[in-house]
Amino acid sequence: MDRFNRFRISIEDYYSTHKRDLPWRKEVPVPYEVWLSEIILQQTRVAQGTPYYHKIVAAFPTIEALANAEEDKLLALWTGLGYYNRARNLQKGAKQIVVDYHGQLPKQYDELLKIKGIGPYTAAAIASICFQEKIGVVDGNVYRVLSRYFGIHTPTNSSKGQKEFQTLANECIKETKHPDQYNQGIMEFGALHCTPKKPNCMYCPLSDSCHAFNNGSVGALPVKLKKGKRTKEIVHFGVVQNAQKMALRKRGTDSIWAGLYEFPQLNEAPDHGQLLAEPVLHKLSHKDLHCSFWAVSEAEISGDYSFYTKEEAQELGMPIIIADFVTKRL
Ligand code: SF4
Repeated sequence: MDRFNRFRISIEDYYSTHKRDLPWRKEVPVPYEVWLSEIILQQTRVAQGTPYYHKIVAAFPTIEALANAEEDKLLALWTGLGYYNRARNLQKGAKQIVVDYHGQLPKQYDELLKIKGIGPYTAAAIASICFQEKIGVVDGNVYRVLSRYFGIHTPTNSSKGQKEFQTLANECIKETKHPDQYNQGIMEFGALHCTPKKPNCMYCPLSDSCHAFNNGSVGALPVKLKKGKRTKEIVHFGVVQNAQKMALRKRGTDSIWAGLYEFPQLNEAPDHGQLLAEPVLHKLSHKDLHCSFWAVSEAEISGDYSFYTKEEAQELGMPIIIADFVTKRL
């Protein structure tokens, strides 16, 4: 038996005994639920993402319901998950599916790639889990497991690496009868066993044939190219309260928080404003925001804004730093 098949069979065996019981893992998976779970779980752990999954499925049980949802309502349910473009693209994708595919996700990988917000990873996950297509998934867990087991040092965030790992993933899945089991198995194995910091090599079903384990390079893999330096930004929010209501503005379409509500921003710390809390550090993927909240009068803010009660504000999509402030401080 070649290395690919040997690896694949071990992964499928692992999955059959260690598979976690998750709400979207059903005897007959529902493509919409698998899609939604995959989008939520990008950049989010299962424990954090699952409550969001339940809330969103309850509010929008079908692709059509999601397509027709008010964007504010979807973003409010998404608050705290971050990466709000994922939610917006999810809805754009749902609209496209209603118009072009009669409200049903297409069954083929190539067709799935045409949907807004569905990239190679999500298309491979849906096509294999729901429709048994043999396309290897490649996510952070898969990079780690493949790079260690096969001893690959090509950086995972280079285009050469992405091609190389995709080819390898497809090679591993090629001869399976259970593409759903293999793909979910390798992700599960990476999430639970071959973890980033403390992989359980001592009790690993793959250790005999694992390249990294047998060459002392587990800690060095996977290789990632260093990204540019993080930047720092100081943000001053002006909190205007008027008759139990607060002023909020909706952000335009040209920022990472597009379409979300926030307090109007001030150009600088106000001379007479009162600081409402210690400045808060908010980490984005590429920069650190140092945010201060100032009690100011209406004369000190500008631009478009409207007044909302606390209850109304909590129904809007807001960056988590604003949502937390509204909930805990106002
Ligand atoms: S031996 Fe260690 S590095 Fe290799 S697959 Fe198993 S857990 Fe991962």
